[in-house]
Amino acid sequence: MLIAVPAGAQVCSGTPPPIAADGRVLGHLPYGDAPPDELVAVPADVAVRGCVLRRDVLPDLQRLFAAAAASPEVGGRVLALSCHRSLTRQGGVFCREPATDADTRAVSVAPPGHSEHATGYALDFAFRPRVNGCPDAEACVAATPAFRWLRANAPRYGFEMSFPVSNTQRVKWEPWHWRWVGMSASTPGAARARLLFATARRRFPASPGVDTAIEVANVPPPPVYLSLPPFAEPRGKRRRRR
Ligand SMILES: [Zn+2]
Repeated sequence: MLIAVPAGAQVCSGTPPPIAADGRVLGHLPYGDAPPDELVAVPADVAVRGCVLRRDVLPDLQRLFAAAAASPEVGGRVLALSCHRSLTRQGGVFCREPATDADTRAVSVAPPGHSEHATGYALDFAFRPRVNGCPDAEACVAATPAFRWLRANAPRYGFEMSFPVSNTQRVKWEPWHWRWVGMSASTPGAARARLLFATARRRFPASPGVDTAIEVANVPPPPVYLSLPPFAEPRGKRRRRR
């Protein structure tokens, strides 16, 4: 299986951060980029903006959105905020605050090559309407009815919270950030996602998790894509991304 290029963490100027024996850089595990032909668009009516994920994620994600829309306790809508991010894009996000040291930045944003977003299996959720002015991708979203619904129900659609509170991975609690692993390993595509996240699931369990069984025997690894397409600065205002 191809995994991320450690050099991807060196895109910012300055001394490259150290690579741990387990491949982590500043706490983040290595991941490659999803191949473009495996990425499909999330329907615009359930996305804050343009958003693509691995094809295998879409059936469960759309069932989750449909269930949220039909649940009065949500009190609004659950939407996709940020989905797949290429290695190049992640580099731009990670290096955008050069005055902040890499170690500090890495608490809330992964270096390129080390973000779950590159895999195409992870996304950030947003909630509308906003409650008490809480911005997207801030801890206050955890106090909203829509988030409480998501936390209780997302595992029923194969999603687990990657970075729970007090996680030992050295990543800030990110209640809005979830990865798809399928409800069971027999869900189409789920075994490949579980293989990709096997280390993270074993060493830094998600909460709420889907299940802890890692059934990946004889499963081909999910393809990853390492060549870097031309980087274009995202237009519009800068946003915090994990
Ligand atoms: Zn995220």
